[in-house]
Amino acid sequence: MRVGEFQNYIDGKWQDAVSGKKTTVCCPCDGEPVTSLACSDGRDIDLAVASARRAFEEEDWAFNPRLRSDILMKWATLMQEDFAHLCEILSLESGKPLAESRIEIGNAINYMKYAASSARTLYGSTSTVAKNRLSMMNREPCGVIVGIEPWNYPVTLMVRDSIPALAAGNTLIVKPATQTSGCSLAVIKLLTDNVPELPRGVINTITGPGGEIGRIFSEHPGIDMITMTGGLETGKDIMRRAAGTMKKVSLELGGKSPNVVFADCDFDKALTWCANAIFSNAGQTCTAASRLVLDEAIADRFLEKLVERAESIRPGYCLDPETTMGPVDNESQMNKILNYIEIGKSCAKLLTGGYRYMENGCDKGFYIAPTIFLNPPADSPIVQEEIFGPVLVVQTFKTEEEAIALANGTKFGLCAGLWSTDFNRVMRVSRKLKSGNVWVNHYTGFAPECETGGYKESGLDRAAGVDGFIKYTEIKHINMEFG
Ligand code: NAD
Repeated sequence: MRVGEFQNYIDGKWQDAVSGKKTTVCCPCDGEPVTSLACSDGRDIDLAVASARRAFEEEDWAFNPRLRSDILMKWATLMQEDFAHLCEILSLESGKPLAESRIEIGNAINYMKYAASSARTLYGSTSTVAKNRLSMMNREPCGVIVGIEPWNYPVTLMVRDSIPALAAGNTLIVKPATQTSGCSLAVIKLLTDNVPELPRGVINTITGPGGEIGRIFSEHPGIDMITMTGGLETGKDIMRRAAGTMKKVSLELGGKSPNVVFADCDFDKALTWCANAIFSNAGQTCTAASRLVLDEAIADRFLEKLVERAESIRPGYCLDPETTMGPVDNESQMNKILNYIEIGKSCAKLLTGGYRYMENGCDKGFYIAPTIFLNPPADSPIVQEEIFGPVLVVQTFKTEEEAIALANGTKFGLCAGLWSTDFNRVMRVSRKLKSGNVWVNHYTGFAPECETGGYKESGLDRAAGVDGFIKYTEIKHINMEFG
């Protein structure tokens, strides 16, 4: 197995699932088996929860921010030292080109360093509420937290979304997405095998059938909070099930994000980012700008150049340095995308792509040619639903009001790009966009220090920044009376 053979990590030990069952992950480029995983069930989950609970109650993790910070910083260094290997296994499991894996692992290290520095900044506040009374608002970790991870950026998002829970003093159970569990677990193994100061039970892992074990987690009474990054329907299911025990829930969900391009933009820069923002990671990015809301005044010239960019993309094997786009993650995802493409053909003008790509040795993988549709009806599924593939929908506009209405015209609100050199327009429009992130004259402007998350059905809560850290705490009000 080129990625590796992995067990669950529970109570300080790597161990097989109680059932002894295993599952295999294959590379989406060619179907080659690359990873073996424990196939867990409720019994493994009970063990992981007991381990995390014991560690939370008995170890001094919750009260030792310096230890937490030191351990997370060591973890970042270990990731840096293993950089080349992590990039390769991430590519093999996800199919993404090596260049994209390098960006992902680099980002993950950056998020890890930020989590390490946050660990020492868990401040509360005090308030003098009467002459003889002082109130302390003390921030305390929530307890046992489960991190349910997606497969599209399995390392960065595990670190960005779940590791701050450790930094805040909680204990953690990581449930990676099955398709990319190997690279997530390889990162965790760097920590567990090389940092003896890590208290037993502080971090635990469970792999297996995502829906089944995810549902058990959501309902489990021994868990205090679920933090999940993934699809909208999964998020709703978690919320419904978690309601039974009033768990805290934090959700980073999907999007149908617009790049809003006005005629007064920097044309070449906007063009580059409009292509990158949909076709990188084969469109499997929550923040993908899967809609281009384009000023009619420049539409013909812009689209001609955009089609050229799309047609210059070279799908191929993930480790081939010439490859600029990998496959989509799995066969059912590919078929779902091809189905959306058929819908598009029936209601919009196809500008390029629109088929499964099988040249250049891609016949065994799940490749889709970069695809662009022009002006489908606003209520069409290809405008309203997250396709999660390299499919761009262009919607043209004449006025600023029309551009804003189109940009806000879906149930999602994760992010938006805004391209204009008119300062007043930038200020007006960015305030009206119903979106957790607005990137002006660039795209994907993430930073560990800055919150990200969704309006509307794109999620609950924020990841990264101060909010992405303190969401893993409870505030305890201690009110003291003195004589
Ligand atoms: P998914 O919802 O299928 O799976 C996400 C995780 O949830 C996986 O670990 C999966 O095993 C688990 N899961 C599946 N069913 C579950 C259930 N019923 N209960 C609990 N857990 C369950 O999503 P995916 O296909 O892995 O990722 C793609 C989706 O994630 C897209 O919609 C994308 O937009 C979204 N996403 C959002 C962000 C963000 O930051 N907002 C980032 C990345 C991905």
